[in-house]
Amino acid sequence: MKLRVFNIIKNTKVEGPGNRYCIWVQGCSRHCRGCQAVHTWSHKGGELYDVEVILDDIFNQKDKIEGVTFLGGEPFEQAEALGIIAQKVKEKGLSVLCFTGGKLEELRENQINKKLLDNTDLLIDGKFIEKLTDYSRPWCGSSNQRYHFLTDRYNEEIFTKYKNKVEVNISKNGQIFMNGMGNFDEILRKVDLMGIK
Ligand code: SF4
Repeated sequence: MKLRVFNIIKNTKVEGPGNRYCIWVQGCSRHCRGCQAVHTWSHKGGELYDVEVILDDIFNQKDKIEGVTFLGGEPFEQAEALGIIAQKVKEKGLSVLCFTGGKLEELRENQINKKLLDNTDLLIDGKFIEKLTDYSRPWCGSSNQRYHFLTDRYNEEIFTKYKNKVEVNISKNGQIFMNGMGNFDEILRKVDLMGIK
């Protein structure tokens, strides 16, 4: 089974509780206005990874991470492959956080999503809606998005324990990759003013 991937960060602190292995899937049909991840929309871009290769890589990080985060792109457009990853990850005692532009009730109607939903601890659902932009809650960007605690691994404590943050990675050749949640345009302007963009 293959997964089409836009990017992987093996250890980040800004995409869910604790340190996490983070997979941005490639491909999203939702096309939300104001989406900050337009480059993940195409279903032809990115790179195809074998699920077993990703699992080996995750397990190599096992002692340094609390869990794995799926975002994108639309994770539920590749629910089968991510369901396999989520199940194996959970068996090793790691947690799973998954984002979706869909709604939990609709996702539950499609049997293909079952394994991924059954192995997700925290699901953050709902489209990004530009006019409802709100960075006050951790990891998400608009106030309509909902947090579903699908297991007892996490609970409402996350709202006081974690704040939205971004990480800015600048590669040796000067390429900037920013992740986390916040006003990226504003942050990039500040980086530019510092003369390092
Ligand atoms: S679901 Fe996510 S990736 Fe897809 S368009 Fe909406 S915000 Fe962008």
